[in-house]
Amino acid sequence: MSAETETEDRRDFIRDIVRTDLDAGKVDTVVTRFPPEPNGFLHIGHAKSICLNFGVAGEFGGRCNLRFDDTNPAREEQLYIDAIEEDVRWLGFDWGGDAKHASDYFEELYGYARHLIREGKAYVDDQTADEIRETRGTLTEPGTPSPFRDRSPEENLELFEKMRAGAFETGARVLRAKIDMASGNINMRDPVLYRILHATHPRTGDAWHIYPTYDFAHGQSDAIEGVTHSLCTLEFEDHRPLYDWLIENLPVPSRPYQYEFARLNLTHTVLSKRRLIQLVTEGHVLGWDDPRMPTLAGLRRKGVPPEAVVEFTKRIGVTKADNLVEVQMLDAAVRDHLNATAERRMGVLRPLKVVIENYPENETEELDAANHPNDESAGTRKVPFGREIYIEAGDFMEDPPKKFFRLASGREVRLRFAYFITCTDIVKNAAGEVIEVRAIYDPATRGGDALDGRKVKGTIHWVAAGTALDADVRLYDHLFAEEVPGKDRDWLEDLNPDALEVLTGCKLEPMLADAVPGVPVQFERTGYFTPDPDSTPEHLVFNRTVGLRDSWAKAQQKS
Ligand code: ATP
Ligand code: MG
Repeated sequence: MSAETETEDRRDFIRDIVRTDLDAGKVDTVVTRFPPEPNGFLHIGHAKSICLNFGVAGEFGGRCNLRFDDTNPAREEQLYIDAIEEDVRWLGFDWGGDAKHASDYFEELYGYARHLIREGKAYVDDQTADEIRETRGTLTEPGTPSPFRDRSPEENLELFEKMRAGAFETGARVLRAKIDMASGNINMRDPVLYRILHATHPRTGDAWHIYPTYDFAHGQSDAIEGVTHSLCTLEFEDHRPLYDWLIENLPVPSRPYQYEFARLNLTHTVLSKRRLIQLVTEGHVLGWDDPRMPTLAGLRRKGVPPEAVVEFTKRIGVTKADNLVEVQMLDAAVRDHLNATAERRMGVLRPLKVVIENYPENETEELDAANHPNDESAGTRKVPFGREIYIEAGDFMEDPPKKFFRLASGREVRLRFAYFITCTDIVKNAAGEVIEVRAIYDPATRGGDALDGRKVKGTIHWVAAGTALDADVRLYDHLFAEEVPGKDRDWLEDLNPDALEVLTGCKLEPMLADAVPGVPVQFERTGYFTPDPDSTPEHLVFNRTVGLRDSWAKAQQKS
């Protein structure tokens, strides 16, 4: 899609601002950035921010940096940096050259801090974190100035240098901006700019004993990179005056502006990194890429195509007001994409054997099956057929109700791409359950149509027993049973115990041995599936990416 057509059909308040700034000549080239903190894996909420930042840059001929906000070595790891790069690439975006890091600018940021000190606009405070919090004041009462607020620039410079050199204990001192302890905005009441932390940084090692806060690092990093539009989520709205104050009081090389948009909230899951980390570390899920997780790694493992994630973010748009998006919207985007692109196969999840009594023993044949019903260019494949086949247990009923049009005693149905069969008898086990169906087929219906023009009401899928592949199939449901986890009780209590169901002994057509992880196929009438990375030729394991329709809504209505 060309840049022009993209901008034409995409309008939101951010794109309107960018367009206006370009038209007015306020900026020449749009520069944005996506600034993850490498303290966890990216989730579907981050995808909204990624698609916005990279999308805007792409549509308006600008560029977007990937910048790691790596200012807190206590929580950050190289593992996360690698995972984040992989995920952004997977979504189809390119940050052009190397990723950037706030830590690339530690020296410049330190210089900016010294500049503020020299100007009398920052000071070293010896108060503890608790004391600083206690003297910050409230929404209705002003804060209390620190007894160290009026230190001379010389003393401050000396102390700050010692902080850097590691002369003090973690938490012993901080550097604060000297702004206004009576400000109506608590972020302006002498916010902390640097804290002492003796930790090894993934990139700078042990070079630093002080680290800038998000507020100090962010805007200045934007300015250093020439970012024009610094897009962040709404919780930073109250930080914007500080962002502007720092930019205006520092000799930065450019003037970025911050704009806030609503973060994505999704039903039946959580998107807080703190909670996602807890799910992983406490073993509620099997890892960051567990397909139940809303992480991009989890979605990818489940089989969700990146195009569907991008399409989902288009459908939800970009707004200024917080809202809650139904996870079914994500599923719908996945379904729409896969319906158009995924090849069709046959797989039986809960097999019931059918013996076709009038089909010659020891004989097999191959039938042609279309790979996509609406796309002839997808071609056809051969599926083996024989005297014994499996059908879905749910496609047979001994005593069917009126509206059941599938196989039943004495009833004729079409086997997809194969023949009409009629059930002649059933075999039950001691418990009275049907364990086998006996049937006869009509050789004159080969390919699925009767020469005499007679019709059947049902078509069912099947897999030939002799050549069937055995597989485990993992079915996924919402991670949380409640729409908003933790609304009425502890959020962990809302975990859905049925979010993962593993079916064993599923029967798949032989072609599925060649299925590729991340390229889902449709099991006809059942859903979309892709091999899990755990899958081996000896032990096939498939993940259900998404069902053919939304079964959750129906199940909820019934209960
Ligand atoms: P935490 O959950 O710890 O607050 P975070 O989700 O803000 O962390 P970051 O790594 O700081 O994680 O996020 C990187 C960028 O992604 C930020 O610009 C942030 O605003 C954006 N972002 C994070 N979560 C969402 C979300 N749910 N919807 C949209 N954007 C988000
Ligand atoms: Mg954050």
